[in-house]
Amino acid sequence: MNNNTLRIAIQKSGRLSEDSLKLIKECGIRFDNGAGKLKTDATNFPAEILFLRDDDIPGYVEDGVAHLGIVGENVSEESSRNVDTVHKLGFSKCRLSIGVLREHDYTGVQDLEGKSIATTYPRLLGQYLKANNVSAQIHEISGSVEIAPSIGLADAVCDIVSSGSTLLSNGLKEVETIFRSEAVMIASKQLSEVQQNLLDQLLFRIKSVQVAKN
Ligand code: ATP
Ligand code: ZN
Repeated sequence: MNNNTLRIAIQKSGRLSEDSLKLIKECGIRFDNGAGKLKTDATNFPAEILFLRDDDIPGYVEDGVAHLGIVGENVSEESSRNVDTVHKLGFSKCRLSIGVLREHDYTGVQDLEGKSIATTYPRLLGQYLKANNVSAQIHEISGSVEIAPSIGLADAVCDIVSSGSTLLSNGLKEVETIFRSEAVMIASKQLSEVQQNLLDQLLFRIKSVQVAKN
């Protein structure tokens, strides 16, 4: 691979995709975004865009397969990959919260002692429980976390929330926020001098776009 080019990994399809593409375009970088493409070259900047699942992005950036990535801080932190968070992007704001059944008489985090909590974020949840001196069983599942309490799979959930309507519609109430997230730009620790330079140019453009919006 050419180390005079920046490879930027963004989510292929999901909640980050549209704003990630928009940000790159607002930085003046043009590319042909053909439907279903997994990789595309920018036409007026030495960059290449990779379209991936968000969960895979921190690993690709750590390995230097991609030089930059746009992901939620939740995903980047959970992955514990060795990457630099170079900029907060201000979109895809959400929080990682604990929810319990609405009828549960919740008085505080100590109520979680000895309970089981279903989540796709075992690492962030584990850190939170440890910091609060609570010992609970973390039940890692890969999706549809909110249904766990109502089917008796777990006593509580720890999941991404934005409006809270998914929790509500599954008979849950939000009782603790353990992490606040937004989209961030992460960078590999193995950039060439040229790539670092390109990253600086890109960050300068991103900051200008953000200033213009405020
Ligand atoms: P993929 O198929 O790429 O793995 P996914 O289903 O894991 O996608 P999305 O639901 O598209 O992920 O969410 C991507 C990121 O967007 C989340 O990790 C989080 O940072 C953020 N996010 C999630 N839910 C919301 C929401 N309701 N509002 C705003 N941002 C959100
Ligand atoms: Zn994902």
